[in-house]
Amino acid sequence: MNHWGLADALAQRRQQSLYRRRLTLESAQGPVVTVDGGSLLAFCSNDYLGLANHPDVIAACKSGLENFGAGAGASHLISGHLTPHEALENALASFTGRERALLFTSGYQANIGIINALLGEQDQVFQDYLNHASLLDGGFLSRARHCRYAHGDPHALAQVLEDADGQRLLVATDGVFSMDGDIAPLPELAAVCERFNACLLVDDAHGIGVIGKTGAGSLELLGLSPSQVPLLMGTLGKALGLMGAFVAGDEDLIETLIQNARSYIYTTALPPAIASAALVSLGLARTPDLREKLHANIRQFQQGAQQLGLVLLPSDTAVQPLILGDSGTAMAWSEELCSQGMLVPAIRPPTVPAGSARLRIALSAAHDENHIEQLLDALNQTRGRLPL
Ligand SMILES: *Cc1c(COP(=O)(O)O)cnc(C)c1O
Repeated sequence: MNHWGLADALAQRRQQSLYRRRLTLESAQGPVVTVDGGSLLAFCSNDYLGLANHPDVIAACKSGLENFGAGAGASHLISGHLTPHEALENALASFTGRERALLFTSGYQANIGIINALLGEQDQVFQDYLNHASLLDGGFLSRARHCRYAHGDPHALAQVLEDADGQRLLVATDGVFSMDGDIAPLPELAAVCERFNACLLVDDAHGIGVIGKTGAGSLELLGLSPSQVPLLMGTLGKALGLMGAFVAGDEDLIETLIQNARSYIYTTALPPAIASAALVSLGLARTPDLREKLHANIRQFQQGAQQLGLVLLPSDTAVQPLILGDSGTAMAWSEELCSQGMLVPAIRPPTVPAGSARLRIALSAAHDENHIEQLLDALNQTRGRLPL
């Protein structure tokens, strides 16, 4: 494939500090991971409650495997919808206070599926500037007219909705933004949607299990009803520690997705053991213990960073970003921290806007006070050695 210039493009990427490389973890997910035979303290996973390697979740997964086998064997509409899937959908509907929930094999597929099942050329989709790529891609694929509004800004949304003339108007937003950790102003966005007769879709991948009185996420925290947010999407791969996703809503919505969402119809169902495990994860996420530990860790980290004079983005969720600006600086910080035994990823464009490369520090209930102290120490050392 020489004539396609792949090697040149890759070299250019490397030169711009934009090259992406994978680590291989030689251990389970957790606060301490093994890489290249050595231990690192990890502040990078989305396993915010420490459930990915929780003994009760593993036990449920094992019993799911024994009772229902390793694979679902088919898509949900053919013969891949098993008892654990059905039970999990019911539990998720009750968790989110909605008529029904529908499982997808991933959050990416859920977002692609929802938007495509509901919108076409004659419709319009309005997206927060910092929305997750899967929402954006869902919008592009649907062929609906696409419009992005300024991050977290209901006035900017109202302005673009003023000129809207599509048949169906869908407003899509992350609940908790994945790279910034801030929470969307949902009551204000919902009010704008009501004014313009638009429908609000919230992707709460980073809110579910993390915020809200029972861990039900941004909507619970901010007190939004199903009629204000008819479309709620959440994932099982983050705080719930597994994989997969769900859409929760009313009967007609879910039936429409079952009929029309191509990324639901034309893909294999989640392994049933994952659904069995998710039922137990969900139970653990609903009890306050792990969430309280996570929030104690968040406060400890925020206070420590403040004492060091490190300015974080304003976030009260598990994602605590330290903006460094250019990609080279972010990479240098990440590498320096790694040499001190800390695994903290540098997030660069195009995942975040140009000039806002950052460390995305992700905290978990599985961290203890000492882990957080070690991270703060390492950040302080790094600041002495590198530009901020
Ligand atoms: C991770 C994420 C997704 C995708 O979920 P997967 O299950 O990992 O495919 C969607 N939306 C947001 C906001 C996310 O952070």
